[in-house]
Amino acid sequence: LALILKPFDPWKNDLCTCPPKLSLNPYTGCSHGCLYCYATSYIPRFWECRPKAGLLEALRREARRVEHGCLICASNSSDPYPPMEKELYLTRGCLKVLKEWDNRVQVITKSDLVARDIDLLSRMRSAVSMTVTTLSSKLASKLEPGAPEPEKRLLCMETLSENGVPVSARLDPLIPSINEPDLEETIRAIALSGARHITASTYKARPDNLSRICNAFPEEGAFIKDLLKKGEHKGGTARLPEEVRREILQRAKRSCQREGLTFSACREGFDQDATSCDGSHLTLAGKGCDGSKWRRKDFSHSK
Ligand code: SF4
Repeated sequence: LALILKPFDPWKNDLCTCPPKLSLNPYTGCSHGCLYCYATSYIPRFWECRPKAGLLEALRREARRVEHGCLICASNSSDPYPPMEKELYLTRGCLKVLKEWDNRVQVITKSDLVARDIDLLSRMRSAVSMTVTTLSSKLASKLEPGAPEPEKRLLCMETLSENGVPVSARLDPLIPSINEPDLEETIRAIALSGARHITASTYKARPDNLSRICNAFPEEGAFIKDLLKKGEHKGGTARLPEEVRREILQRAKRSCQREGLTFSACREGFDQDATSCDGSHLTLAGKGCDGSKWRRKDFSHSK
């Protein structure tokens, strides 16, 4: 394996508890423009989303050599469904190749465009992890200005789930005083949208993402900066104080338990009690499993 499928690299983070997996990024860079994005400090020109050259040819060569059962994750450092995927069908092309070789795939996205490929996903060993950080369209338009609004993501999760594609959600990052106060409400909506598992993570500050957050949310930014002063700093990343992270994640865990969801925390150094931290165990649920018992009817979450 060389060009397209690469061993997942958590950027040397020793708190990563992900199972072994291969990364597939059909695009370099991402146009969702999330203020808290970590990838911008590692990848040059990150906001310019561009398709990978020679992607499908390389994937056809590499997919056949993947060990049966090995997990492939699309994507870890960009979104496989940026707006240009509507015209380019690159990620869809990748799914076709991976389906042909019966590869196990987890799609991680913020885009409802993934529902377009339900015909493929429901007939392969797949699961989708949808990132939902808030229910508020207003807040999302500031935090994730280029990404589809939360309502669309929740409806997409419901559609996927009803069509037999196992769904989890990433509640990541939880940012104190910005989206953290509403985490219980967000988890309830995620559960009602058919998800089975939530992966949560507290905000980890890098100099560039912190300055974007402070510019957009001056008051909350000052509060977060004060909190970070008491937290751990390592390798250019600042974490919230341990007691703050524990308290936030305990609330998230209790809320998941109430809603019947499994829960894990990402890169926090705390004990896990889910089968996988990233929700990738759902890819083992089989093709076309039934998620229809979850319904979101009678639930309104617009703000
Ligand atoms: S979707 Fe992910 S990769 Fe893209 S800008 Fe947002 S955080 Fe960064």
